[in-house]
Amino acid sequence: MNGNEPLIRVENLKKEFVGVHALNGVTTEIRRGEVVFVVGPSGSGKSTFLRCLNRLEDPTDGHIYFNGVDLMDKKVNINQHRQKMGMVFQHFNLFPHMTILKNMTIAPMKLQGVSKEDAEREAMKLLTRVGLADRANAYPSQLSGGQKQRVAIVRALCMKPEVLLFDEPTSALDPEMVGEVLQVMGELAREHMTMIVVTHEMGFAREVADRILFMADGHILEEAAPAEFFENPKNERLKAFLSKVI
Ligand code: ADP
Ligand code: MG
Repeated sequence: MNGNEPLIRVENLKKEFVGVHALNGVTTEIRRGEVVFVVGPSGSGKSTFLRCLNRLEDPTDGHIYFNGVDLMDKKVNINQHRQKMGMVFQHFNLFPHMTILKNMTIAPMKLQGVSKEDAEREAMKLLTRVGLADRANAYPSQLSGGQKQRVAIVRALCMKPEVLLFDEPTSALDPEMVGEVLQVMGELAREHMTMIVVTHEMGFAREVADRILFMADGHILEEAAPAEFFENPKNERLKAFLSKVI
């Protein structure tokens, strides 16, 4: 692989659900260590974009190169690549019948052949990092929303992903729990974890993004560094969007 190859390169990505054009030709690149935010009105295709990246949705057309490999190639073992793309959802998606520790160790043990001992050691290290080591044997229903989302983030990290995809990770949280989740995400961003974050938290985007993409109607209408994005928006739709959300 060429050293200049971005971690993810998306070319003319399209997704059509029956009668709905959710993605209308999205082209962009994500470099290693980059923190990219995706914002835009509801229904603009943000979730579909994230879900197509790891082929949770099958794109209708276009290409997704991950580490230079075209994930749209029928011969590609998508599960192998998917393990390198951690995903954090709005509704946490923890396994309700498993303890926090088990939630974190099951994938590394089953999919990556990590020993129980090593998986648990890594999980405890990560839980300690987010202040939840004492909840290792609790079940998800015993945790607050903010705690659950912190677990979901470190559960994704247990797989040692090359990129983390966040789909509105704080949208389902009570306001007082948003800060603790953004704090964890902010730390990862400062450590140059490659991240793609869909969010409505504009202040946070401005603070930690390297680049922000504005989506509307299944297109990226503008992409820029935060200062330029917020202070000098060019696209009329973006101007209208910013005037409503800020
Ligand atoms: P956003 O995350 O920006 O709110 P989505 O990616 O969820 O937008 O949706 C983009 C468009 O695709 C919307 O019109 C939505 O209704 C449609 N859509 C998303 N998922 C499905 C699906 N599984 N079936 C049919 N239409 C869908
Ligand atoms: Mg969405």
